[in-house]
Amino acid sequence: MSATRPIGIFGGTFDPVHYGHLRSAFEMLQALKLDEVRFVPCGDPPHRGRTFADAELRYRMVEVAIQAQTGFVSDDRELRREGLSYSIDTLESLREEFPDRSLGLIVGMDAFLGLPKWHRWDEILKIAHIIVAHRPGWRAPDMGPLGELIAESGTHKVDDLHKATHGRIHIHAVTQLEIASTEIRELVAAGRDPRFLMPDAVRDVIKETGIYMSDLSETHE
Ligand code: ATP
Repeated sequence: MSATRPIGIFGGTFDPVHYGHLRSAFEMLQALKLDEVRFVPCGDPPHRGRTFADAELRYRMVEVAIQAQTGFVSDDRELRREGLSYSIDTLESLREEFPDRSLGLIVGMDAFLGLPKWHRWDEILKIAHIIVAHRPGWRAPDMGPLGELIAESGTHKVDDLHKATHGRIHIHAVTQLEIASTEIRELVAAGRDPRFLMPDAVRDVIKETGIYMSDLSETHE
């Protein structure tokens, strides 16, 4: 049993972080009564090609994006770890740090649908809950391995995420903001202003560093 409120773990490439991420995280923080949401920028993403901004810069954009929000925390453990960034390793390291706390891995529905391709994906629920942010245009699976997993472990009750430290799947609708990092990068590369898609502090970092402004085929490891 978990005596305290769950810690939400929000991983992503955040290349760059935007209001789609921030609004979802904020709604989760409030609606699920989370103790905090930890933003964990991916060091070296295993499921996609290279990133555009390097890991330090993506982390810096996350830091400036969340600084004014109580309960939002940045976590650089994937930057400090060598090799590909697997979520299961991140969860294991958080579990070591917080042995008795409820942990909830927050993923968008698009990411959730790709879960069976993740490294040791079937071990995630042994360490944490999975909290799925319902994203525009995506339906929860009702068949296949994920359909079965939802049938076994799914819960509509927020309380279940507080009562146990791991093991449940909760799908939660969030306000639909159709913003994607890909579109922001394209927009900046085309010389347009990403204002109002992200906090001004993130936009300032983009302006100051010139990231995304040049050829988008140039990427970082
Ligand atoms: P890209 O366009 O580069 O693929 P992205 O905008 O999807 O990036 P990621 O950093 O890959 O952002 O996403 C991190 C997490 O945030 C994922 O779980 C993803 O599903 C979720 N997410 C991304 N955009 C939104 C959005 N607009 N609303 C809610 N969740 C989102």
